[in-house]
Amino acid sequence: MSLNIDQIRGLFPVLHQEVHGKPLIYFDNAATTQKPQAVLDALTNYYGHDNSNIHRGAHALADRATRYYESTRESVQQFINARESAEIIFTKGTTESINLVAQTFGRKFIGKDDEIIISTMEHHSNIVPWQMLCEEKGVILKIIPISEKGEILFEEFEKLLSPKTKLVSIVHASNALGTINPVKNVIDAAHAVGAKVLLDGAQSTSHLEIGVQDLDCDFLAFSAHKLYGPTGLGVLYGKRAVLESMPPFLGGGEMIKEVTFEKTTYNNIPFKFEAGTPNIADVIAFKSALDFINEYGKPAIKAHEDELLAYANETMLDIQGFIPVGTAADKVSVLSFNINGMHPFDVGQLLDAKGIAVRTGHHCTQPLMKRFGIEGTVRASFAVYNTKSEIEKLAEGVAQIARFKN
Ligand code: PLP
Repeated sequence: MSLNIDQIRGLFPVLHQEVHGKPLIYFDNAATTQKPQAVLDALTNYYGHDNSNIHRGAHALADRATRYYESTRESVQQFINARESAEIIFTKGTTESINLVAQTFGRKFIGKDDEIIISTMEHHSNIVPWQMLCEEKGVILKIIPISEKGEILFEEFEKLLSPKTKLVSIVHASNALGTINPVKNVIDAAHAVGAKVLLDGAQSTSHLEIGVQDLDCDFLAFSAHKLYGPTGLGVLYGKRAVLESMPPFLGGGEMIKEVTFEKTTYNNIPFKFEAGTPNIADVIAFKSALDFINEYGKPAIKAHEDELLAYANETMLDIQGFIPVGTAADKVSVLSFNINGMHPFDVGQLLDAKGIAVRTGHHCTQPLMKRFGIEGTVRASFAVYNTKSEIEKLAEGVAQIARFKN
């Protein structure tokens, strides 16, 4: 199915504005996507009609809010094809989801001289939580090297695996390069030595169809705000048996069955990991974001984004001084580049003056930038509402900027 992009753009109020006197071209989607009107309406509806605390009130509003909240959990379950909705935990974002695993699974099951494997292309949120655990417990962090194209060296990964490997935590699609990692092969190889696998799905979940049962990953972490949903909300998927084996993360209300001063017993999953009043409004509104994606379907969305990426490559590769960073064969719609002789930040500012929003810098992947011997890149990342004519404006802008220096 080919999408009606004009109609889709009509659903996103934020896109219809001028920046510095030019129509906004929003290419910072890997940082966060814009929100359709349905998500904004869901937030207003919740606060205007249903606002109430969940799971505990004996009144109509609490009942309604609880039903809506739990129905998003079911939508998420379907979205990633989890076996049951109890395997879906709401967090603040990918970062908190990964920290949750490090602080609970990690602290309980990973000890001195055990090993955790990550890759060179991880976001800081999939590096630092493991370094903190390593420091505390004497765990060893091993790094999968990557090629010049920005692909993991699978044979090198296999050499790192051993019975000491307790966890492989890897990004499904790189935010800085766009590389899609061969995660099914990673998971199978890790399981063969008895290691668990966490997938950082922050970038993959908006582009790729994901079935956690088929993938057989033990954990999947992602953020609602990169999926056309609200900020401050994320998901941790975990297999039931693994989640049940883990101690709680935060202590407080909701995560308990019974509290006495002598002993507290913990609630069942997922509530064991959702202490305190959760982000009710954003959870409820997230369902509208998932409905939006489901209405068009990820295959159609990805086909459109792939077309944009191919067009961007085609129109920009011949620009004198244009240096692409990350040229993997299998990519999501992220175009990272530099212009010879220019700092990425300056390129970003010049593009901003033309109304074009891109990201510049290290993209929270400093070790990856070091691997390529660069300080950072300019990153244009495309979403369902972007168009070929916007790509043409980007290419024109980049060509103009490059002409100053090259
Ligand atoms: N992992 C990747 C690959 C990301 O791109 C991001 C955000 O940019 C994160 C993790 C962290 O996500 P959040 O800031 O929503 O917790």
